[in-house]
Amino acid sequence: MVKSVAIVGAGVSGLTCAVLFAERSYRTVIFAEETGERTTSAAAAAIWYPYDAEPADSVIAWALETYKVLVGLSRDSQTGVSMIELRSFSRTGEIPIPEWAIPLGAKRLVRDMLPVFNSGFALGVPLMDTTIYLDYLTNRFVNAGGSINGNVRFEKLEKVDPKFDLVINCAGIGARTLVPDADLEPHRGQVAIVPKLDLGHAVVCDDFPLMYAIPRANDCVFGGTNELSDHHDVDPATTSRIVAGCSRVLKIDKPKVLAERVGLRPFRKSGVRLERNRLRDGRTVIHNYGHGGSGFTLSWGCAKKVLDLAGLSG
Ligand SMILES: Cc1cc2nc3c(=O)[nH]c(=O)nc-3n(C[C@H](O)[C@H](O)[C@H](O)COP(=O)(O)OP(=O)(O)OC[C@H]3O[C@@H](n4cnc5c(N)ncnc54)[C@H](O)[C@@H]3O)c2cc1C
Repeated sequence: MVKSVAIVGAGVSGLTCAVLFAERSYRTVIFAEETGERTTSAAAAAIWYPYDAEPADSVIAWALETYKVLVGLSRDSQTGVSMIELRSFSRTGEIPIPEWAIPLGAKRLVRDMLPVFNSGFALGVPLMDTTIYLDYLTNRFVNAGGSINGNVRFEKLEKVDPKFDLVINCAGIGARTLVPDADLEPHRGQVAIVPKLDLGHAVVCDDFPLMYAIPRANDCVFGGTNELSDHHDVDPATTSRIVAGCSRVLKIDKPKVLAERVGLRPFRKSGVRLERNRLRDGRTVIHNYGHGGSGFTLSWGCAKKVLDLAGLSG
């Protein structure tokens, strides 16, 4: 019988799990080295779309479950979730519409909508404005009785106070040393935040070089990069390249850069780790990390699976 739950990690994975446990009245505490703006989650774009995460079948199932929850949250403007048209393009050849996108209403874009690209499709998706949504999750968790202890770094999961009988590991790329797990790769992403643009839709091109423009309530996220690197510092030349590329596509003058962010997408070669295990001290641990470029997209589906694995979903 679970009495108290320790969640390691205050990114979108940890916060979403924390909300589910606390709202079921389990004593739940988050422990995290970094909180708020310093997490990878705060650097994300963060639009719903399965990208750079494995394995494909499970990823699509968790993503679709998350989609439903986010559509519900988008009805409340306080959540920071809204629905937006995502226009996904290819610079070469005909971009395939993924099978799972057809029931969601994906439509091929006609040629006159494609000034720079060769082909594209449009799809209505949830967009989480991280400047609002992460606070929304935090407040929802705290209002349900949860608490967050920041600036706590564990060298191993057994260091979590023994008074917690269930440990949930949502450490993102930090799981590489915490577990340890050599299967995790840092897929570094850099973005530039520019002033609000009235685009009316998001533009994404996954062909190299990765390019996206995601308009949010108060600003716009220009991206991006995806490279195997541990480098946390902003690279000014990359920012210039991103801003020039997005401005060219959107046919606007280069906007001023309000902020630059770097995050390490926690990509796991063998797939998202969502499994129940035992710590060396006999306690149950549930791992929930390795979501790569889809942490927001998979958040609610994976958090519900964590509840299942804990035997508490009934
Ligand atoms: C530029 C960029 C754009 C992105 N765009 C999107 C997008 O549009 N849509 C989408 O779905 N996803 C996107 N992603 C991916 C998404 O951001 C990640 O998948 C997601 O943030 C991972 O969340 P997490 O909670 O698992 O990890 P994190 O946000 O990294 O949180 C991990 C937490 O664990 C803590 N921690 C780690 N190690 C320890 C330790 N040893 N002791 C204590 N605490 C520890 C950290 O301090 C932190 O609090 C993007 C990522 C980047 C970088």
